[in-house]
Amino acid sequence: MSEAGSSGPRSRYKRVLLKISGEGFSHGGERGIAMDAVVHLAEQTVRASRYGAQIAIVLGGGNILRGAQFKAANTAILEATAHYMGMLATVINGLALQDAIESLGADTRLMTAIRMDGVAEPYIRRRARRHLEKGRIVLLAGGTGSPFVTTDTAAAQRALELEAEVLLKATRVDGVYSDDPERNPHAVLYGELSYDDMRGRNLRVMDGEAVAKCQEHNLPIMVFNFKKEGNIERAVLGERVGTLITRAGPARRPSGQ
Ligand code: UDP
Repeated sequence: MSEAGSSGPRSRYKRVLLKISGEGFSHGGERGIAMDAVVHLAEQTVRASRYGAQIAIVLGGGNILRGAQFKAANTAILEATAHYMGMLATVINGLALQDAIESLGADTRLMTAIRMDGVAEPYIRRRARRHLEKGRIVLLAGGTGSPFVTTDTAAAQRALELEAEVLLKATRVDGVYSDDPERNPHAVLYGELSYDDMRGRNLRVMDGEAVAKCQEHNLPIMVFNFKKEGNIERAVLGERVGTLITRAGPARRPSGQ
């Protein structure tokens, strides 16, 4: 079971939505699924769940396929079809993470926005909430079920409908930078940003549509690096492990930056 122990640190959140990009399932620059990467994610998730937060995870699929890759007009595969392929990729990741988490003794449910009854439960909001209340780690695959959007948008959508208190976006960089840190060594890492700053600067770490959705409903976003040992647990505990995006941004800091 994933109930927290009676002593030790407790999560500051009752319920979180964790978005794990597909790149969490493979090694840097590679495609497909690396078992040790999946186990690493599973271990972090199970430890995080022991702090008492209910955890819903939206899975990315970019390690296998992204629909936008097929944008070129000369491909025989329509872009819409490719987006559905991308959504199916998230189910593959979900199956892998589900087994890895359960091998560590935690309860899970895999739910998908695209019906696939032999493989996963259909996503039904009230059912997902019930699973969370029972302490199950809920894995949400299939994105939104509709093409031409990303799993970031699905994460914002599910966070809102499941009433998560924060969207934790686990990615391979330390947070939101002023520029691409993999190309510009002078890029500055922000500790805190407002939704407007994030959208206005066109910072590419997160889908703008997802940020807009969070802004509309004042849902905080934490962008952080899942590769650093312990970061998923720390994010779930409520520690600042990357960039926090809120309505107020850095102005609400008591001592400025
Ligand atoms: N996708 C989609 N609708 C959704 C979510 C995802 O069509 O609601 C497709 C889209 O093509 C996307 C792919 O699934 O590129 C994989 O998801 P994403 O790129 O968001 O994965 P990540 O970047 O998080 O690994």
